[in-house]
Amino acid sequence: MTRERSAPLLLTPGPLTTAIATRRAMLADWGSRDEAFIALTARVRARLTELVGGEDSHVCVPLQGSGTFAIEATLGTLVPRDGKALVLINGAYGRRMAKILERMGRRHETLETAEDTPPDAEAVAARLAGDPAITHVAAVHCETTSGILNPIAAIAAAVARQGRRLIVDSMSAFGGIPLDVRHVPCEAVVASSNKCLEGVPGLAFAIIRRNALAASVGNAHSVSLDLHDQWRAMEGNGQWRFTPPTQVLAALDQALVLLEAEGGVPARHARYAANCKLLVDGLRRLGFVTLLPDALQAPIIVTVRMPADPAFRFDAFYDGLRERGFVIYPGKLTEAPSFRIGCIGAVGPKDMEEALAAITAVTAGLGVATGTPA
Ligand SMILES: *Cc1c(COP(=O)(O)O)cnc(C)c1O
Repeated sequence: MTRERSAPLLLTPGPLTTAIATRRAMLADWGSRDEAFIALTARVRARLTELVGGEDSHVCVPLQGSGTFAIEATLGTLVPRDGKALVLINGAYGRRMAKILERMGRRHETLETAEDTPPDAEAVAARLAGDPAITHVAAVHCETTSGILNPIAAIAAAVARQGRRLIVDSMSAFGGIPLDVRHVPCEAVVASSNKCLEGVPGLAFAIIRRNALAASVGNAHSVSLDLHDQWRAMEGNGQWRFTPPTQVLAALDQALVLLEAEGGVPARHARYAANCKLLVDGLRRLGFVTLLPDALQAPIIVTVRMPADPAFRFDAFYDGLRERGFVIYPGKLTEAPSFRIGCIGAVGPKDMEEALAAITAVTAGLGVATGTPA
């Protein structure tokens, strides 16, 4: 089936396909210091905190910008100037956190594993035991580079046992993969509006342990990225310090209503898992091979190894799918030659079946015998 060219289905990690109701929620204008917008801000902050079970211990601090802004803000606000972070790296987003700390001039070390290998909680514990100067550990929940699911619960337990604090980049997992800070001790969980929450881009947030945030005064290297200030101001009058992305917040509010109506995070996780399974099974029928074994694959984005058949040219494959109304994710981040197809967003099994039909037609049209890599 061919979709409308003007409204392609986005099979990307975000911005992604959103529900029409979510886009419609952006049709109103909001006075940023008006009571109605203050209530909207409070409602969204409370719901986001509840999604990870943090209502008794944590607070949500929203921030204008993309996810990276909130990562940078959280690291800068929580890691003290005389602190030291251990960054767990198995892809581009872990590497980005190290780069941010480098730029801010905060002491840090890295613990790196291959892009198809999750960090090992015991190795983290050993590093912490050997270096008492480390105050914080920064880890990625789903490393979107490959789509690997990192063992956050085991890492959190190891970090807590060593008496250190964990900052989680849960950008591509929040809302789509269950996480509960009552059982998985996290100092901060950072995410954005436009991934598994199925909102539109422009807003990010951190769910931060209240006492840690209260103690973080003066840490931040930046005025606009100071989450302590952002929080204090918001607690004071309910308002944002600087111009908020009003329509983006209204869309996120509606997206959160849809998440609840779907059955919350467990139901969304089940839908994404079904999408992922359909996609992976279908790709395998065509001979394609995924980078990751199923046990490590998060139901977020699938990395597919580049086929060896010379008839397979990625640009033509991408354009063929685009012609048929499907936008996949160009540009590889992994070291292995690969491309990625997302399975999150307001898409369901029928969409995945249609995407597979398009993939089948496009590969046949290119004369690709099999998707098997070298
Ligand atoms: C998307 C993403 C980010 C942030 O990316 P932005 O482009 O700044 O929104 C950070 N970490 C992970 C794991 C991501 O998937």
